[in-house]
Amino acid sequence: MSESPLGRPALWPVLRLRCPYCAVESLRKDGSWFDFKAVCPRCHYKIERENGYFTGASWMINFPVTGTLAFLLVVVLYLGAPSLGSMGIAAVTSLFTFAFGIWFFPFSQSLWLWMEHSLHPLRDEDRVAPQGPKD
Ligand SMILES: [Zn+2]
Repeated sequence: MSESPLGRPALWPVLRLRCPYCAVESLRKDGSWFDFKAVCPRCHYKIERENGYFTGASWMINFPVTGTLAFLLVVVLYLGAPSLGSMGIAAVTSLFTFAFGIWFFPFSQSLWLWMEHSLHPLRDEDRVAPQGPKD
């Protein structure tokens, strides 16, 4: 197995939603919380390697993390604020789960990208030719 020309993906930039190779470019499209760019404009590699690439991010990262935190929140509220009652705890947990799941969505995608790239380093077909300046 040959080493990627860009080296191994770094975790710290991914946690800040930055490219794991150049650590400069945002993974997200400008003005969007959910959509990732198709290509890193600096590294010229495809961020979404194939159609449905980020499906695993929801199933393997977002849902388990959000569900675990929601469960822990239920336990904390049940033990720490029993006066809320079961409906109050359910309401608080539902709001938290909804808000956290949306907020965490791009982080689950970037973590998925980092894990996938750590297991399957970039190949030549994952890169696109750099675009020259437009006239
Ligand atoms: Zn990059």
